[in-house]
Amino acid sequence: MLDYVGLEGDLTEEETLIRDTARRFVDEQFRPDIAEHFENGTFPTELIPEMGELGFYAPNLEGYGLPGVSETAYGILMQELEAGDSGLRSMASVQGALVMYPIHAFGSDEQKEKWLPDLGMGEAVGCFGLTEPEHGSNPSAMETHAEREGDEYVLNGSKTWITNSPIADVAVVWAKDRSDDDTVRGFLVETDRDGVTTNKIDDKISLRASITGEIGLQNVRIPEENVLPGVRGMKGPLSCLSQARYGIAWGAVGAARDAFEQARQYALDRDQFGGPIARFQLQQQKLAEMATQITTSQLLAYRMAELKERGDLTPGHISMGKRNNVRMARDQSRVAREILGGNGITTDYSPMRHMANMETVYTYEGTHDIHTLILGQDLTGIAAFE
Ligand code: FAD
Repeated sequence: MLDYVGLEGDLTEEETLIRDTARRFVDEQFRPDIAEHFENGTFPTELIPEMGELGFYAPNLEGYGLPGVSETAYGILMQELEAGDSGLRSMASVQGALVMYPIHAFGSDEQKEKWLPDLGMGEAVGCFGLTEPEHGSNPSAMETHAEREGDEYVLNGSKTWITNSPIADVAVVWAKDRSDDDTVRGFLVETDRDGVTTNKIDDKISLRASITGEIGLQNVRIPEENVLPGVRGMKGPLSCLSQARYGIAWGAVGAARDAFEQARQYALDRDQFGGPIARFQLQQQKLAEMATQITTSQLLAYRMAELKERGDLTPGHISMGKRNNVRMARDQSRVAREILGGNGITTDYSPMRHMANMETVYTYEGTHDIHTLILGQDLTGIAAFE
């Protein structure tokens, strides 16, 4: 497995164990059926509780049964899951970074007790509703709103492109509180409440092995105790996105590494003109470039882990990591596909699946362009969003 500068040799015992557990899970439980799931547009939902038992949801948090592992261990976990498929890593990212994290960071004790153990064990599924049909890159213009009526809130609006909404028990919905100057607040909305719909989006040709849907909210009444008390304004959703984007920077390395390994093996096995295609300089150049790009992205991910561990990871660092590593995986999975020739366009091999998935990963959690603007602002002090 590519780890060209031997970074994994420095992992602690716990980090190595987490890597091995995730790698084994992907190889034995997930990989055998991924092509079928990708073709059918399904996710192996039966694995959700098992992933919980293995500690794949927010293990970097502490308390409520969560072990508080290192940020490197969390990153390695995302890397190994995404080597399986971006849909698998998305499941763990959404559950952990976008649902459990805000409850852990901003929830009341009752909310934490009610949700964190079940979400952590995969006995409940959560989703994160920020994007709306008319507001993607600019979520602060959201129209979904809440109106206070006595000790209840009434929610109206619609969210779209929501990972796992059709199978979720609870949605973290970000909405403007009309009774409080349109301040953005986080609402825990059980999906079986009257007025909630979660239609599935079926026609994706990327991230097919992941369930995506909408959240419709029509006069949905929720009690006051379902509001996340600890955060107000866009800081709420943006801090969740920072957690998830960190995991994506790691995950992309896993997807690219998997594509690379398939290409390297194929180049060694495939004979043309009387010998393996790996003996051609053109193919070696592709492999050398892939290995270099993967390794430099891996180094960035490891450095981000160190900075996160000591509380020094900034939004600029996260944007650079997500932006660089996802672009790298998008480009390199395509080169891997090339090396596989005609076979490369089938689901028998992973590169084209990763390549298709990377179109989503390039777009969600802040598009590549938006991360360019965040970095641009960080470097110049001038915002170029509008
Ligand atoms: P737009 O914002 O309309 O952007 C269109 C294009 O314009 C992009 O290329 C963009 O980079 C560019 N652009 C926009 N603004 C600027 C600017 N200021 N300067 C230059 N270029 C600009 N959202 C959730 O809330 N929860 C989820 O669980 C979730 N899961 C998703 C799963 C999938 C499979 C997908 C595809 C998306 C998911 N999303 C989710 C939504 C995702 O975050 C949005 O698609 C993303 O933020 C982009 O928004 P948009 O699609 O509306 O594109």
